[in-house]
Amino acid sequence: ASNGGMKMEKTLAMIKPDGLRGNYTERIKGAIVESGFRILEERIVELDEDRASRFYAEHSSRSFFPNLVKYMTSGPVCIMVLEKQNAIADWRALIGPTDSVKAKATHPNSIRAMCGLDSEKNCVHGSDSLLSAQREISFFFEEETESGVVNSV
Ligand code: ADP
Ligand code: MG
Repeated sequence: ASNGGMKMEKTLAMIKPDGLRGNYTERIKGAIVESGFRILEERIVELDEDRASRFYAEHSSRSFFPNLVKYMTSGPVCIMVLEKQNAIADWRALIGPTDSVKAKATHPNSIRAMCGLDSEKNCVHGSDSLLSAQREISFFFEEETESGVVNSV
């Protein structure tokens, strides 16, 4: 069957600690469903320093990295696997630019405009490529910790 040339994809979405603390979960999930994504998996997790550092390993040499790890370990996060045609790019478009101040100015309907604060506390995450999506989905939904237990709360 034709699907308009677009591939069915899965992507990893995360509501970061500030999003959960600010009670944005239901509004974010509303936007997700309204935009045609299916939520295939959903779990609340607490990242420890090691896990947050590994999740963001690509940024380990950046000056903002220590603060990023502190932020990401400051409370529980909600991780979701979203499915839709073109899910990876469409979820990135829905969350808006990394810097929430910019999001408010240029992408007022984006999720980061709705609930983000600045370039660090931007309330949501989205995989940025097919490779990242595959890595990040297995990071949370296949990889087990050494004790054999994923840190669900
Ligand atoms: P994105 O989440 O949009 O993919 P990046 O992958 O560049 O953005 O960065 C990962 C996360 O690191 C961001 O979502 C944000 O929380 C934090 N971050 C990025 N750039 C900065 C910055 N200049 N200052 C502080 N924190 C930042
Ligand atoms: Mg990124």
